[in-house]
Amino acid sequence: EVDWFSLASVLFLLTFAPLIVYYFIMSCDQYQCSLTGPLMDLLTGNKHLSDIWNKTPALTYRAAGIYTLWVAFQVVLYVFIPDFCHKFLPGYVGGVQEGAVTPAGVVNKYEINGLQAWLITHVLWFANGYYFHWFSPTVIFDNWIPLLWCANILGYAVSTFAMIKGYFFPSNAKDCKFTGNFFYDYMMGVEFNPRIGKWFDFKLFFNGRPGIVAWTLINLSYAAKQQELYGQVTNSMILVNVLQGIYVLDYFWNEAWYLKTIDMCHDHFGWYLGWGDCVWLPYLYTLQGLYLVYHPVQLGTANAVGILILGLVGYYIFRTTNHQKDLFRRTNGNCRIWGKKPEYIECSYMSVDGTKFYSKLLTSGFWGWARHFNYTGDLMGSLAYCLACGFQHILPYFYLVYMTILLTHRCVRDEHRCLGKYGKDWERYTAAVPHRLLPGLF
Ligand code: NDP
Repeated sequence: EVDWFSLASVLFLLTFAPLIVYYFIMSCDQYQCSLTGPLMDLLTGNKHLSDIWNKTPALTYRAAGIYTLWVAFQVVLYVFIPDFCHKFLPGYVGGVQEGAVTPAGVVNKYEINGLQAWLITHVLWFANGYYFHWFSPTVIFDNWIPLLWCANILGYAVSTFAMIKGYFFPSNAKDCKFTGNFFYDYMMGVEFNPRIGKWFDFKLFFNGRPGIVAWTLINLSYAAKQQELYGQVTNSMILVNVLQGIYVLDYFWNEAWYLKTIDMCHDHFGWYLGWGDCVWLPYLYTLQGLYLVYHPVQLGTANAVGILILGLVGYYIFRTTNHQKDLFRRTNGNCRIWGKKPEYIECSYMSVDGTKFYSKLLTSGFWGWARHFNYTGDLMGSLAYCLACGFQHILPYFYLVYMTILLTHRCVRDEHRCLGKYGKDWERYTAAVPHRLLPGLF
């Protein structure tokens, strides 16, 4: 049953999320990334909505061609080229891997070849930039708004298709969730793991590619634009490219681990994931680079080093915390965390058919500091990207605000689920590790 608050949130997001993306990108295009600029113009009557809209670049055949080629290329890399990276990269887990057990008891198989797709795409990007010169490396920036319309078309098309598919030809009917509320189902998804054929998995494809593969290319395109406009690339742009590049590479290096995260294990595939992956992620996660094209901030050495350290420490915490839980769960506690035997709380839960299962909740390492210290590391990295842009405008700080809301909401959502799952055992765990994100504070 959908409560009124969830429904109101869904309606709010369906209406305003596309407008927010447009507003941010348009503010950069027409107001040098000032978020107050358009508002002031409208409030003072200086401009009408139609003036802003008429100045907005329309969808073009060129953008449609680029976008179609881009998505088609990623589909080919995903579906037709089995992973070879795991054959020569020590420690990398790729190739066919199993996901978590779905609520209906299905274990899906996935072809993990994201790292390979990322590598091939980037090798081609650099080969083009330095050798072939088929297109300008500023091509993404130069077509940014026309490409936004393409991304929206795909985002809405895939979400609508997933909804229809969930009703009429689901990949696994037992893993569908119907609340009876059209808007909620459209947004939060009906099918758990929609697929076409045996291998084309919507969640894995849309979350990772085209969105996350594009992330680093988008940043490179911004750097190329700075070079074209100012004859140099600023250290802030290099910092954003490097820190976000590490985050993206980490995602692909750990793509098999990603199969066990909340997105994959608990969320159904609807507009939230479909449109979010196509539009929200590539457009709003890359705002810092876009901002730096309009405001080429050159940081003092001390500031640049400080931001780099903050970003790297954040990444270290994010990765180590995730790794500790992964290792602990994979070995069923037979491992060492920070050189010692792990401490944990034994817990049990009941499945729908009444079968009792046992699990463990880690309480040592970073998991003894706070219940979601991986989110804290993620937030430190996010802060570093934003700080690289200086303090002249608030637009680049949107990412930090958004990530704080997303991850705090996730804490609450996840803990609600875990309390339902583990009951009294979860209460023992929260008593042992009382804080969520910041030891001693929250
Ligand atoms: P987690 O990896 O923290 O997974 C939470 C689950 O882990 C819980 O539901 C529970 O599942 C299990 N768990 C909780 N506490 C413990 C414990 N003490 N010991 C063992 N298992 C435990 O969350 P996410 O999947 O949300 O995040 C994964 C990473 O992805 C994070 O680092 C996050 O920062 C990042 N992320 C980034 C986003 C972005 O947009 N950039 C978006 C979302 C996430 P169970 O039922 O198995 O017990």
